[in-house]
Amino acid sequence: MKTATLLTHVGRNPEAHEYTVNAPVYRSSTRIFPTLEAFEAGSAENYEKLAYARYRSTNSQYLEEALSALDGSDHAIVFSSGLAAIVNALLAFLKAGDHVLIPDCIYYSARKYCIQELPRLGIECTFYPPRMGADIASLVKPNTRVIYAESPGSMTLEMQDIPALAKVAHENNCIMMADNTWATPLYFKPFQHGVDVSIQSATKYIGGHSDFVMGVVSTTKDHFPALKRAYLNYGAAAAPDVCALALRGLRTMEVRIKQQQKNTLAVIEWLRTQPLVKGILTPVVPEDPGHAIWKRDYTGFASVFSILVDKPEHATLARMMDGLEHFKMGFSWGGYESLMIPFSPAAYHTISGWDSDIYAFRLHVGLEDPADLIADLKSGFARLNA
Ligand SMILES: *Cc1c(COP(=O)(O)O)cnc(C)c1O
Repeated sequence: MKTATLLTHVGRNPEAHEYTVNAPVYRSSTRIFPTLEAFEAGSAENYEKLAYARYRSTNSQYLEEALSALDGSDHAIVFSSGLAAIVNALLAFLKAGDHVLIPDCIYYSARKYCIQELPRLGIECTFYPPRMGADIASLVKPNTRVIYAESPGSMTLEMQDIPALAKVAHENNCIMMADNTWATPLYFKPFQHGVDVSIQSATKYIGGHSDFVMGVVSTTKDHFPALKRAYLNYGAAAAPDVCALALRGLRTMEVRIKQQQKNTLAVIEWLRTQPLVKGILTPVVPEDPGHAIWKRDYTGFASVFSILVDKPEHATLARMMDGLEHFKMGFSWGGYESLMIPFSPAAYHTISGWDSDIYAFRLHVGLEDPADLIADLKSGFARLNA
């Protein structure tokens, strides 16, 4: 089955639900067992038997089947947020005394988790320069258990050489874990590039409509029991309603992203002509240091990227941002609407050597007409220049 067909077919079972195209939402906490035998079976296999909605629901089961088919993984589990997915993935495989290698470009909330929580659990964490490939071997210690990647990185979009990192991980008996939110499994197949545990924030393109948060972790067969253990013990399940919304988002994910890619290229082409833009951070542009790796391993891209500018006066920045009509300020991305936030790369990195004078904007290009988006940026840049 080709991907577009897969996206319309997976995670449905009309025969079991009065032949409705989509399964209804099983809004529930409790399932009632008709017999003692069923109760005992449910208690023994609470996950498989959908014994309680914190373990699993019909809707989460369908969504997980769909997501693992798309990932090409053995199993997927959905979580209450992307961050919960990251945390559960780490806690599934790390214990006190272990060491984990984290890229300096990691998603900000995950960085905070690693800095503030892992040491409290006796887990040691080393941040590494994201463009490090096979050289990461020099940072591996006898107690290193996980090499984590996020490619390209949040906000600054450094490409990572995941196959090279995975090779080092496997030579050292470590698990290769990667946050694949940017590319989605449509454009980067994690399990074909050595990843053992793949994470996504479903909040972004899977949802696609900015109306919920959710995360997903996919694993190979060997690693699934550990993930399932953590999932059942930490209780960060996704609600049935949200699973149904995610499955609905999945149906149109590819067409949305394809259109957003077109719009993104149009916006980038215009940005390249702007003297105010000192750099464009995305592996899609040929001058990006990660372009070759992106071309080798990826078949597409996300409509989120950053641009570098000279640090503006705060009042000037406010005039620019407050006047934007289509690019609205807000966290997250991957929805149908355009977003833009200012940031300082130095605040998101500790070891990558970003100068505190460098300033940036992160743009997310939505489904609006790119001509309107460019006009919005044009007047914004005029306010920034004034
Ligand atoms: C948004 C995001 C997350 C966190 O997802 P939430 O659903 O907001 O918790 C994790 N990783 C990446 C790369 C993200 O963009």
